[in-house]
Amino acid sequence: MTTAQHPPRRILIVGAGLAGASAAAALREQGFDGDVTLFGQESHDPYELPPLSKGVLLGERDEPDWVREAGYYGEHGIALRRDTTVTALRPADHVIVDADGVEHGYDRLLLATGSRPRTLPGFDGPGVHMLRTLDNALALREKLTDGARVVIVGAGWIGCEVASAARAHGAHVTMVDPVPLPLRNVLGDQVGSVFRDLHADHGVTLRLGVRARGTRPDGRAVLLEDGSELPADVVVVGAGAVPRTELAEAAGLDLAAGGIAVDAALRTSAPDVYAAGDVAAHDHPRHEGRVRVEHWSNAKDQGTHVAGNLLGGHDAYGADPYFFSDQYDLGCEYRGLADPAHDELVLRGDPDSREFLAFWLRDGRVTAALNVNLWDHGDALTALVGTRARVSARQLAEADLNTLTTAGAADRR
Ligand SMILES: Cc1cc2nc3c(=O)[nH]c(=O)nc-3n(C[C@H](O)[C@H](O)[C@H](O)COP(=O)(O)OP(=O)(O)OC[C@H]3O[C@@H](n4cnc5c(N)ncnc54)[C@H](O)[C@@H]3O)c2cc1C
Repeated sequence: MTTAQHPPRRILIVGAGLAGASAAAALREQGFDGDVTLFGQESHDPYELPPLSKGVLLGERDEPDWVREAGYYGEHGIALRRDTTVTALRPADHVIVDADGVEHGYDRLLLATGSRPRTLPGFDGPGVHMLRTLDNALALREKLTDGARVVIVGAGWIGCEVASAARAHGAHVTMVDPVPLPLRNVLGDQVGSVFRDLHADHGVTLRLGVRARGTRPDGRAVLLEDGSELPADVVVVGAGAVPRTELAEAAGLDLAAGGIAVDAALRTSAPDVYAAGDVAAHDHPRHEGRVRVEHWSNAKDQGTHVAGNLLGGHDAYGADPYFFSDQYDLGCEYRGLADPAHDELVLRGDPDSREFLAFWLRDGRVTAALNVNLWDHGDALTALVGTRARVSARQLAEADLNTLTTAGAADRR
């Protein structure tokens, strides 16, 4: 087995999304002057996905947020290989192979291959839309017209944001999910019901607690397991994402939690191979078990962080997950990682007003915090989640949040 030279001279990055492009930029920002090549399947420059289900679908903009401005990669000597799929990894040789069969040697390799939308059996006709790429978003937007009948399969974050955009275009929207409340797996029953009411109040028909089994053969309806049919001009499947582990798996790298297993410093089980972003199942220093996060901030921050380790560092990545969503006139941010089925929910403010904070508590510590249409507490919520300070439900509901981390800081056993 070959081993990398120190310091590295050739760094390859597979996946020109947010994690990959952030890593490439950070390598240059940290002064690395060796070869950096970024391989991406798409024809676009690297871009961020959140605007796709928001501003782009709403028709407010045609472009996503670019990770770096046009021309950045060339100006910084980063070889951006668009339209290039990497098809194989040979870790023992320190080589990757692209779809044309060309071999590329590396000293260090970053796998930042992201996720793809989960497909559902029975939903494979031409009228079925998924949402992952800019091209997906532009194609779907064309169909979200006034009066169109849109059936959304999946009441998770993507399904909820697509419903919001479709209603803004005047479409008739039905959202279907076998789970009885939107976002219930992330937010639990009580907060999930806030999102159910939000969508109902904006005219979405909710068919929750029933599984969709596919489209009718003519593609003009979605069939439900209870025997009913939902007429559809447009079908959107938003059933979650599946990490793109295929390269790593074929190369024999360790997998975990559905992703590529990485240690605290984002190293995979293969020498000189790292992973970051959606695809990385991370041995987080402050969470139990493997943590795999499909959030914008995680991709950006892990991508930036891993650059230092690609250059020889061993620093653990320790940031807590952070997520945001916008639906109609509701904006929210979620920090941390709760288990809503077991953690205690503490509400501050009236959820029916859709201006409130929610906390999840486990053993007297905040595992996650959500702010809905309230924007003044970001630092306090970050600190509460991040410091693991001991707090009570009553303090969370009533006390000055800014004092809690200071007061609880003394007790962080
Ligand atoms: C529509 C949408 C809206 C979202 N909104 C939010 C939000 O509001 N808030 C939030 O926190 N998060 C949001 N997310 C999630 C967030 O955008 C992702 O977690 C983040 O983009 C992951 O970045 P990544 O770089 O790991 O993966 P990706 O962005 O998926 O990038 C991976 C790239 O690798 C390429 N690739 C994969 N395999 C290969 C290969 N073999 N060869 C070459 N290239 C390859 C892919 O084509 C892709 O371009 C949203 C996601 C979507 C889809």
